[in-house]
Amino acid sequence: MSSKRVVIVGGGGTGDYAAFTLRKKGFEGEIAILSADRDRPYDRPYLSKEFLRGEIDAPKVFLHDEADYGRERVDLRLDQRVTGGSLREGRLTLEGGGEVPFDVLVLGLGGTPRRLPDIPQADNVLTLRSLRDSRQIRDALGSAKRLLLIGAGFIGAEVAASARRLGRDVLIVEALPVPLQRALGREVGEIYADIHRAQGADVRTGTTVGEWHFAGGRVTGVSLSDGTREEADLVLVAVGIEPNLDLPRALGLPIEGGGVRVDEGLRAAPNVYVGGDVSLHPHPVLGRPIRVEHWEVAKNHGRGIAAAIVDGDQPYRKLPYFWSDQYDVNLEYRGQASGDDEAVWRGDRAARKFTVFYLRAGVVDGVLSMNDSRTNELGGKLIESRRRVDRAELESAELATLSS
Ligand SMILES: Cc1cc2nc3c(=O)[nH]c(=O)nc-3n(C[C@H](O)[C@H](O)[C@H](O)COP(=O)(O)OP(=O)(O)OC[C@H]3O[C@@H](n4cnc5c(N)ncnc54)[C@H](O)[C@@H]3O)c2cc1C
Repeated sequence: MSSKRVVIVGGGGTGDYAAFTLRKKGFEGEIAILSADRDRPYDRPYLSKEFLRGEIDAPKVFLHDEADYGRERVDLRLDQRVTGGSLREGRLTLEGGGEVPFDVLVLGLGGTPRRLPDIPQADNVLTLRSLRDSRQIRDALGSAKRLLLIGAGFIGAEVAASARRLGRDVLIVEALPVPLQRALGREVGEIYADIHRAQGADVRTGTTVGEWHFAGGRVTGVSLSDGTREEADLVLVAVGIEPNLDLPRALGLPIEGGGVRVDEGLRAAPNVYVGGDVSLHPHPVLGRPIRVEHWEVAKNHGRGIAAAIVDGDQPYRKLPYFWSDQYDVNLEYRGQASGDDEAVWRGDRAARKFTVFYLRAGVVDGVLSMNDSRTNELGGKLIESRRRVDRAELESAELATLSS
């Protein structure tokens, strides 16, 4: 294996961690990263938070110094989009011509911000995925008076919090009844609506844009379904991503549930591994296929893929984990649950220090904590134990005992 050539497509969380973990594990073969991005790999979560607010800048936002790639013999090729190739022949095709051979292929392709057909193109209507997007929004926020956010998922909610911290007026328009409803459910979403309102954001839930108003090619405001007309001089559309599946499709990989179907060891085909946002992974602990759009998952998939390449295929068992920081509120989530699961609350909702356990057939599958890291960690152990627990136990028992 050591003399093989590993080609990684995607310079994001999955790709960068796969490359450096390979070296850490003693892999001696060639490693190349082909990335469509023009910047070297960076820490994407900063882009809606510290970087957007100007609290950190390059080089801190990058995952590695430029010299690290040379020292670790990782051939990082930026601004290189891969459009297809042949798995059987072990070669990739680059946009604009050129081919790259591989023995082992790793894909960590992320996603592209969704654009809704009824949202106009204009200079001041932006989306956020890349470092350049974040820089553009940061610059625009410098002179903007009122930011209109379309969508109150994580990106929308975090940018709203950052813009409020910068003293900008913020209007959030969300079609669903509460912010973050898809990710966190109605009750936690309501808490977030209160948090944003208390910080001065104008949160309009259950509301859509009826009409866009323009002057000089720029959006100047909107008429909303609640009958009001609102002004805005900067618009961020944050209505989720489309996973980047063109390349996996072109390579003939199995597509399912919005991602590439992999096996328990993150393998989509012999010598082809897929991680991060585009990976639909049958999680051996949770016992069902999941596709997760979160940073720690992408990083850990990268590490898991490197381990599989060096040590041989093995089930990837790490639980999904993510966090979100909005104002002074920290959220952590381990595992994965759905709105149908039984929810057991523990802690103090009013003080915004609580944990919610999500149970499926009596077994904890997800743990959400607000400002309650310790319980979240213990909750993760409870998920891993696959032990049956009941509501009363979770509400009252000493958690450390339950999860041991
Ligand atoms: C602003 C923002 C804030 C976030 N904050 C958080 C957070 O607080 N917590 C959290 O858990 N998650 C957060 N996320 C989500 C997290 O960043 C993603 O889940 C994670 O980056 C996914 O990693 P990935 O490796 O799958 O893809 P990415 O990190 O998106 O990397 C994909 C890479 O693939 C490249 N690429 C795509 N197609 C091709 C191609 N055909 N050829 C060559 N290169 C290609 C792209 O250019 C890019 O370099 C945030 C995301 C954003 C945008």
